[in-house]
Amino acid sequence: MTWVSHSVVTFATLFVATQNVFIAGSATLGSAFPDQIEGAFWKASHRSYSHWFVLYVAALAFFWTPDVFSVTGIKAWQMGIVEMMRRFLFWFFAGALLHILEDAICGPVPFWRPTKRTTVLPRLFKVRSVGEVLFVIGYCAVMYVIASYVI
Ligand SMILES: [Zn+2]
Repeated sequence: MTWVSHSVVTFATLFVATQNVFIAGSATLGSAFPDQIEGAFWKASHRSYSHWFVLYVAALAFFWTPDVFSVTGIKAWQMGIVEMMRRFLFWFFAGALLHILEDAICGPVPFWRPTKRTTVLPRLFKVRSVGEVLFVIGYCAVMYVIASYVI
């Protein structure tokens, strides 16, 4: 997926799931992380360590507390910078983990080993194709329908 598609799908997913713009925004920033961290090594190591879900699950476990879902603008301001950053990083890495899932529906990603890519889910479309655009539009339509019942 392109970073725009990752951003749109991640924001729609987390906003519908939590109805919280702080959570959805933090995850949207994190949804670009696995590709961005590859930087200059993109050609040589695309979708290896940066796309291994185990690292992001470990980050989520590290930053997890039972109150990660309860964050509002006022609470975030009152809780202090360390607590606010911990919650931001939890949702940032949740977005990065969603990135891996989103990549898994358009190509192989590492599963058992970080250096060996495997087809985990059926490939629904090719990256940068009309199929990707149609998937994002259809996904947002589904999220809109869900949101109209939930929110
Ligand atoms: Zn990626």
